[in-house]
Amino acid sequence: MAAFHYLNKVYSMFGKSKDKEPDVVLIGAGIMSATLGMLLKQLDPTLTIEIYERLDEAAAESSDAWNNAGTGHAAFCELNYTPEQADGSIDISKAIRISESFDISRQFWAHMVGNHLINLPLDFINSVPHMSFVWGDKNVDFLRKRYEAMQQSHLFRGMQYSEDPQQLLRWMPLIMDGRTITEKVAATYMPIGTDVNFGALTRGMIRYLQQQPGVTLHFCHEVRKLRQKSDSSWRLKIRNVNTDESIKVRTRFVFIGAGGGALPLLMKSGIPEGEGYGGFPVSGQWLKCTNPEVIEKHYGKVYGKAAVGSPPMSVPHLDSRFINGKRELLFGPYAGFTTRFLKQGSFLDLPMSVKLGNLRPMVAAGLRNIPLTKYLVNQVLQTPEDRMVSLREYMPQAKQEDWVLEHAGKRVQVIKKHPDHVGVLEFGTEVISSADGTLAALLGASPGASTAVSIMLSLLEKCFPEKVRTPEWTNKLREMIPSYGQSLAENEALLHEVRAYTSEVLELESVQQIRK
Ligand SMILES: Cc1cc2nc3c(=O)[nH]c(=O)nc-3n(C[C@H](O)[C@H](O)[C@H](O)COP(=O)(O)OP(=O)(O)OC[C@H]3O[C@@H](n4cnc5c(N)ncnc54)[C@H](O)[C@@H]3O)c2cc1C
Repeated sequence: MAAFHYLNKVYSMFGKSKDKEPDVVLIGAGIMSATLGMLLKQLDPTLTIEIYERLDEAAAESSDAWNNAGTGHAAFCELNYTPEQADGSIDISKAIRISESFDISRQFWAHMVGNHLINLPLDFINSVPHMSFVWGDKNVDFLRKRYEAMQQSHLFRGMQYSEDPQQLLRWMPLIMDGRTITEKVAATYMPIGTDVNFGALTRGMIRYLQQQPGVTLHFCHEVRKLRQKSDSSWRLKIRNVNTDESIKVRTRFVFIGAGGGALPLLMKSGIPEGEGYGGFPVSGQWLKCTNPEVIEKHYGKVYGKAAVGSPPMSVPHLDSRFINGKRELLFGPYAGFTTRFLKQGSFLDLPMSVKLGNLRPMVAAGLRNIPLTKYLVNQVLQTPEDRMVSLREYMPQAKQEDWVLEHAGKRVQVIKKHPDHVGVLEFGTEVISSADGTLAALLGASPGASTAVSIMLSLLEKCFPEKVRTPEWTNKLREMIPSYGQSLAENEALLHEVRAYTSEVLELESVQQIRK
């Protein structure tokens, strides 16, 4: 509260913005900055916003369609969101949170499309069934229990479960074709899953923002330094990477939406809330199918179970994608060791991020995650033949000549201080904000783009708490996101209402079809 009064004081000190003194600076033109920019501009059209992006286009890092898996993470198929407890029960609380978050994203996207705010190809989001597939008694037992637990929540109604190989053949022909059934197999099938082209979505939002009065986008501009002044405003030093010219910008609110580049900037900001954080980058690779006949035979996102000891982002999946109007098929991800925080980053990113303040948590997290290190070393040493062996576990008839290796984006996993273990490695996302609400940064990458809207709503609540409580902002938030402030997990009628509305606007599989 006090923080917000302070912020307001700075607001009034600056009065209306002048050149290079915008109300808001967004660092990076990925999905997170784009989403926050859209929300802020809708909530307060008078805001002046400057966006600085080091590359020459928007969404060219993790948010680009080829750099992520495009799964609309709604917790329908990702087995790592529903861990098995020591007593054998299945904990679905994380799945509920993620599913609700995805429904929030759908509402905001439907608002933008329905109101013609963004010039988007409608196929930025497509209905693609989400399936989970396992084999072996233990895994089948887990999947059955998971299905039963999820049926307790209306968020997951419509999901089907089967252990019948003939049914599985209909759901996932490429996966069952040529499979020798020596063990039990099982799958779940959720028809209302989606594939999302987050790159197209981001560029659509950025285009809208560029056309708004008071918004300026600067490509090829890299934010190098940021320092808080005594009046609590922020002074940013930014380099034009083409001309090498340096500019200075002063603002009263900064969002570090720099993806993998967020950690070094957070450290430079010097806010106490950012102390002790470190990052561990993991690179991703896919096998991309080049045979149109094979691509056409598969329709779904089929997620398996991560091997014991391997990290959650290693869950193998065979994925139908829709990219630029074309159907595609990916398998992966294969992980790799890297020291870069961004695909177009520097080999020095990781070593340069190690400072006195995060050395202990980083070493402790490293020592506690030896299986991850072993897994990454194994992945790096894989030959093309080894990759085909992994693919054939899911697609027994796969032919090497139909697949090429592609490089995905980088994930920088968060390392943070821990009271008992000195340092821990986290696989989620985390918003870190200064106590005065003048700066926020997003670290981590999972479940990522799918939950961008909820993440940015929580950022607004942290950094603009009093504004969010005003009738103007509350009403606008409810107009954009009809379920805002209510729990979809607790209100079945509301869930059906918002799913029906978003399905219609975004032309997705109708929820009514699967309610019976
Ligand atoms: C392999 C992989 C698979 C994934 N699969 C999925 C999935 O299936 N579903 C899902 O929802 N999410 C997925 N994700 C996560 C998702 O891609 C990310 O959460 C999301 O794209 C992050 O968006 P962002 O805006 O934070 O970062 P980015 O999209 O990386 O954008 C950050 C931008 O900041 C710019 N930048 C960096 N430093 C600076 C600086 N100093 N100055 C100016 N600009 C700077 C960068 O150039 C970049 O354009 C996946 C990620 C990976 C890597």
